[in-house]
Amino acid sequence: MPAPFLLDRSLASVWHPCTQMKEHEQFPLVPIVRGEGPWLIDADGRRLLDGISSWWVNLFGHCNPRINAALREQLDTLEHAMLAGFTHEPVVELSERLAALTGHRLGHAFYASDGASATEIALKMAAHYWRNLGRADKTGFVSLAGSYHGETVGALAVTDVAIFRDAYAPLVRAGHTVPCPDARSASEGESATDVARRAAAALEAHLEQHHATTAALIVEPLVQGASGMVMYDPEYLRLARALCDRYEVLLVADEIAVGCGRTGTFFACEQAGIWPDLLCLSKGISGGYLPLSLVLSTDTLYQAFYADTASRAFLHSHSYTGNPLACRAALATLDIFAEDDVLKTNRARSALLGRLLDERFGAHARARHLRRRGMIAAFDVPYTQPDFPRRFFAAGMEHGVLLRPIGNTVYFMPPYVVDADQLTQLADGALAALEKA
Ligand SMILES: *Cc1c(COP(=O)(O)O)cnc(C)c1O
Repeated sequence: MPAPFLLDRSLASVWHPCTQMKEHEQFPLVPIVRGEGPWLIDADGRRLLDGISSWWVNLFGHCNPRINAALREQLDTLEHAMLAGFTHEPVVELSERLAALTGHRLGHAFYASDGASATEIALKMAAHYWRNLGRADKTGFVSLAGSYHGETVGALAVTDVAIFRDAYAPLVRAGHTVPCPDARSASEGESATDVARRAAAALEAHLEQHHATTAALIVEPLVQGASGMVMYDPEYLRLARALCDRYEVLLVADEIAVGCGRTGTFFACEQAGIWPDLLCLSKGISGGYLPLSLVLSTDTLYQAFYADTASRAFLHSHSYTGNPLACRAALATLDIFAEDDVLKTNRARSALLGRLLDERFGAHARARHLRRRGMIAAFDVPYTQPDFPRRFFAAGMEHGVLLRPIGNTVYFMPPYVVDADQLTQLADGALAALEKA
């Protein structure tokens, strides 16, 4: 099917996500026909370097031979079985291996498909936990300014991104937001750690007043993705953990974007030396292959649901919970982490990306706040037009790189298979795009 027809058919029949469809009257969709390592290949044979891991999900490249092989084998063995009353090897092995990765601090895994569902589960579990303990008043949630935890109606309660929330505000039982420890907000002479302490003091003031009605604090550890790769000091997580303990509030770590090695450690929380009570994973956990999300919980939390009565149980389910194919993709992904010492090779990749960006944008008149944590890097472009993201994207595409700024923030989140040449192309493409956008 020639590409133009595919585009017309797509516009006629597919309602594309996060898109004002009318804008596609002027800006064509990009028909992707094949994936290969860090490349997406379009219908004209054009190769695009996937600088954002296809919306942050891809870890080891497209059509990774090892994940493909694992999936083929699983496909001929068991494609799906319900998980209520039944179990299977892939879900058990995945749960055991994830528990081991947390040092068995988070020993129970509850499964869903998308990130937002994991947020829903964590929020429901947190409130239900307190209810089971006889403290049914603890139903409130606290999140950071600029937080993003998904876009379903429940998750919007803790998502502080106006464009996603405003139209649905009447449907949402909004939680409280507390200041974000955004390192960019440091005033003269203040360090990122000082900013973290200042934000933690605000959290403390909030919890002091509201702890009796607060079930949980939910955070994106170290990097707030959707609000523009906002980075903050691990000290905030240490202080937040201590405050949650002191005020009897659960800590939920939404590692949907930052987990699976994105920030340099497998879990971002490791860099603060803390563990949450609930941890959400999705996106990269299946290598970017299949929708899979999960919530890891402590034994303490799990035990509060373990009883003789159904009403104390966590009565929540999704049809595809624990899907064997998705779990198998996740196991193949964890195999690659173990066999290739990925976190170590990523340290070199991240350092190189840092050097390349520093050379081009460190002193660039249109780049501010160049920042990096693990395999995420970003800078801000002051004084842009509202259509800057689209212009930058289009200019990047002309240079064979796929980059989609968030507002005036240009960011890089490449898959963990990019080599030095590809990282250089990404940095050069961004520089060329910035000149044009
Ligand atoms: C993407 C994301 C989600 C939502 O995941 P979906 O699969 O898109 O529903 C939640 N939290 C964070 C931090 C995310 O980046």
